[in-house]
Amino acid sequence: MKRDEHLVAPALPALAADVFPALAQQVHGQRLVYLDGAASKLMPQPVIDAIRDYQSRDHANVHRGVHTLSERATALFEDARESVRRFVNAASVQEIVFTRGATESLNMVARGLGERLQPGDEVIVSALEHHANLVPWQMACARSGAVLRHIPVRDDGTLDGPAFEKLLSPRSKVLALTQVSNALGTAVPIRYFVAKARQAGLITVVDGAQAVAHGPVDVRSLGCDFYAFSGHKMYGPTGIGVLYGRFEALDALPLWQGGGDMIETVTLHTATYAALPSRLEAGTPNISGAVGLGAAVRFLESLDRDRVGQAEAQLMDYLEASLEREPWIRVIGQGAPKIGAVSFVIDGVHAHDVGTVLDQFGVAVRVGHHCAMPVMQRFGVPATARASLSLHNTQADVDELLAALAAAKERLS
Ligand code: PLP
Repeated sequence: MKRDEHLVAPALPALAADVFPALAQQVHGQRLVYLDGAASKLMPQPVIDAIRDYQSRDHANVHRGVHTLSERATALFEDARESVRRFVNAASVQEIVFTRGATESLNMVARGLGERLQPGDEVIVSALEHHANLVPWQMACARSGAVLRHIPVRDDGTLDGPAFEKLLSPRSKVLALTQVSNALGTAVPIRYFVAKARQAGLITVVDGAQAVAHGPVDVRSLGCDFYAFSGHKMYGPTGIGVLYGRFEALDALPLWQGGGDMIETVTLHTATYAALPSRLEAGTPNISGAVGLGAAVRFLESLDRDRVGQAEAQLMDYLEASLEREPWIRVIGQGAPKIGAVSFVIDGVHAHDVGTVLDQFGVAVRVGHHCAMPVMQRFGVPATARASLSLHNTQADVDELLAALAAAKERLS
């Protein structure tokens, strides 16, 4: 098939430099082809504007002031919480805790649930996890004497469902699972895993960091107890993220940090604590981050998500087909349904060298272990190159990636 026989409409026709100002620049004299959205999405203008307006007009501390700016900042901060609630379809804003990002959200849950684990209890994760949903559980198990079990990854990059069902036993207490693998792009059938785990009485924790930007999220219909994600992977700023928790599950978590805002009353020796979500949000929060995240939610809500989802899926097919067509490129986890990202290697060439040459052509991809070293070990590679898609990407971006890869192969092998 010739490339032009496979015309793919971009997710949104006009989503280029006018919406994502970073795309207006050149890198090493070339048009910027940004294929690193899985690491961090570029920021769209409405998010930049919301943060700038907040910083330049409304900035003050939240919750404690009676003056106008503080009241405005509080209203914007709590509006952002409501936007996030709506975005994930949580039942109440009390179920939305702002954190520094998915990493902090997952640590909060692992530390909290870890306090309730007993020696011999089991926590199930998959062998596909980002370190953020693996290391905190290793730490929780080390502290409690619980045992960490792993759902194996098949050669095609999918998770082994029957092996997971065999892992379930009365000792199993927690399932903590990614919805989309950042390392391979594998779309995990999260409903199946959560439903099976719930039937077996496990607490369910979903790492949604790579999923939220690419399709609707409905935590109630998914039925998980906890859902974690980061602002910067969904077109918002860094330093802000969310822990959703079903009210009873979240309320049962122990306190995270002590300080201002999480208390009700304090004496020299004792304190009583605020209700959710404040009890898990000690100290001055990342107010501008939350405002930016709220704007990112509204940006995504303003799009026709069905159409965008369809276009993203088509572009993903085109990307995979373009990579697989070249005999010198090896896609890792070929055959798995993917969302947003594809990992690959050029045999005999180190991924870091590939990434460096691509950068010379203005093409930004991520290279390395993608904070998922066990996935690299599973597939016997030290590192991969990963191309990942955002709303602004087009078929022309994929074609430029392939041309730059051919040049890299020529130079490096
Ligand atoms: N989980 C997944 C699947 C990720 O891809 C990432 C980041 O790449 C994280 C968790 C951690 O996100 P953050 O670094 O924003 O806390």
